Amino acid sequence: MTPMFTLAQRIEALHVQGVHSVMATFTDLHGVPKGKLLPLEALPAAVASGAGFAGPSIVGTGLPRMGPRSEYHGRVVPDSLRPLPWLPGVAHAVCDGFAGGEPLDTCSRQVLQRQLARLRERGWTFHVGIEPEFFLLRRGEDGRWGVADAEDRLDKPSYDLKAMVRNHGFLDDMRRHLTALGFGLQQTDHEDATGQYEINYRHDEALAAADRFQLFKLTAHAVADQHGMVFSCMPKPLANAPGSGLHFHISLTDELGCPLMADAGGPMGLSPLGLRFAAGLLEHGDALAALCAPTVNSYKRLAVSESASGTTWSPVWKAVGENNRTCVLRTVEGRLEWRLPDASCNVYAALAATLAAGLDGIDRDLPAPEACDADLYQRHAAGDPMPPRLPRDLHEALAALRADALLRDDLGEAFCEQFLALKRAEWDAYAQQVSDWELERYADGF
Ligand code: GLU
Ligand code: MG
Repeated sequence: MTPMFTLAQRIEALHVQGVHSVMATFTDLHGVPKGKLLPLEALPAAVASGAGFAGPSIVGTGLPRMGPRSEYHGRVVPDSLRPLPWLPGVAHAVCDGFAGGEPLDTCSRQVLQRQLARLRERGWTFHVGIEPEFFLLRRGEDGRWGVADAEDRLDKPSYDLKAMVRNHGFLDDMRRHLTALGFGLQQTDHEDATGQYEINYRHDEALAAADRFQLFKLTAHAVADQHGMVFSCMPKPLANAPGSGLHFHISLTDELGCPLMADAGGPMGLSPLGLRFAAGLLEHGDALAALCAPTVNSYKRLAVSESASGTTWSPVWKAVGENNRTCVLRTVEGRLEWRLPDASCNVYAALAATLAAGLDGIDRDLPAPEACDADLYQRHAAGDPMPPRLPRDLHEALAALRADALLRDDLGEAFCEQFLALKRAEWDAYAQQVSDWELERYADGF
């Protein structure tokens, strides 16, 4: 639908397509899409004043139980309306969070929009290609989680075509639905762990890319469920195999659409502005980890470990290199591939923080980072000096975010307070656990 349509015309068009309901969605602080179904006739009110939700029931709003601000109003963004090919009669819609008639400062979609507004003042656009890696899992009869496809057990599972054929039902349903939703599908492959896949689709302006990733997750959950499997965004479900990243391919353009970060003749293919953006990401890397890799499990992925294919390709060190996948930041044809994020992140918050850090690099004119042309895994194995490490666990990452005044200010105190409180509780709950590994190691060990 083009933005030229009036709301009445959109409703009529949806009606003609057999749509009777709207799934009005928002994203909670953990990055999970939530929402409710509304009859199509309720759409004008949902656009004007918002669909109502009990504010405190939504993770991370910080809204009170009583009074005018207790209600979370999800205002439907009309441009986001899309009939869902996997749920006939229902159109998906994205909402912005409001409370008491004001934009809600803890709504992550608005946190991102605030950063994008800073860019618009400069006439710039932030483009992002989001690369989802994920697992297809199933809970076994013994109650334990495992890879859904029991035959998927190659030593080197990268690009395994036999597993792709066995799972064609799921993968082809994804192709059909993502195509109908206008995703611009590019490729699908088996990733480097058993049960792990990656689906790539066209990049977009950052807000649209974030909305699209949320719709990707919703679609993949529904399709996997139809095939008796669970679509998993867990960063590292298998201890001895690579985890799943959610790499962001990022670039900036000016008001004429010309790339700002690329320079074929510059170091690593970057312009001075691209180098400063990269410097900002490295400078704020520890605090960014809290937002880009926000779960206890994220740090099981961001570790030095071997896989059957020789490496997990997960980022461990804060360095940038031209087409160097062993660094947290890889440059590819004048773009930056930010390899820190995983799919357990709130994609709006992770993108907002990434942009804020890059802009800080530009505004403070941070010195260009040195190009890393070493295989860092190899260098580490040889015991050579390494670039600084990313945080080793969520606790360290949260402390870094707490100490990063610039990021906290850019993301907003209200959002950061909610985020830090929830994530601290997550860490504390984890720290109290006694794992199988500990029992095996210590129970009769002394
Ligand atoms: N799965 C790896 C990660 O955790 C990335 C593999 C790749 O480069 O595609 O980031
Ligand atoms: Mg990959």
